[in-house]
Amino acid sequence: MLTRREFLKRAGAVTAGATIASVSGINIKPVQAQVSKIKLQVKEGRQVPSVCPYCSVGCGMIITESEGKIINIEGNPDSPLNLGSLCPKGAAAFQLVENDNRPKEVLYRAPHSTSWETKPLDWAMDRIAEKVKEDRDNSFIEKQDGKLVNVNPALASLGGSTLENEWNYIHAKLMRGLGVVNVENHARI
Ligand code: SF4
Repeated sequence: MLTRREFLKRAGAVTAGATIASVSGINIKPVQAQVSKIKLQVKEGRQVPSVCPYCSVGCGMIITESEGKIINIEGNPDSPLNLGSLCPKGAAAFQLVENDNRPKEVLYRAPHSTSWETKPLDWAMDRIAEKVKEDRDNSFIEKQDGKLVNVNPALASLGGSTLENEWNYIHAKLMRGLGVVNVENHARI
């Protein structure tokens, strides 16, 4: 008897393969054979299955941890969605946590200043909230040409692919509540 995981894996592979082959006429058997050989590259440490946070494809990942530190992230060969592969963005997910070039503190440059100051995260959150409120109070338009519009044209929101679906959902709700109509996100898969 097939387990649920085996069923999903076979159904995903067959559906994707049949669709690509029928649309393009390409023989994908060698690719399928190659994918079936994908094995984890790093075998030591504790391996935890997870899901790529970048986009709604939701590729499966295996995160490997050793002594409280993430030592590797790669595609999960058991995932029916990606069968062990990751796009370049997902394949670089390790750098989300281990990256010496990534700033880990809030840096603030005051108006007209030429130097950066390190600030606590709570200070930055409060300042952003104050500025958003100030801007909304100054720019909100309730009526235009006699019609109720309730918009704030002075604020815009640009999201990126590191925002996952749930955050994008709640973020869109927050922006609509502020009257923001200029809401955009570069990840549109
Ligand atoms: S960003 Fe790439 S690896 Fe991550 S879920 Fe999307 S397609 Fe998969």
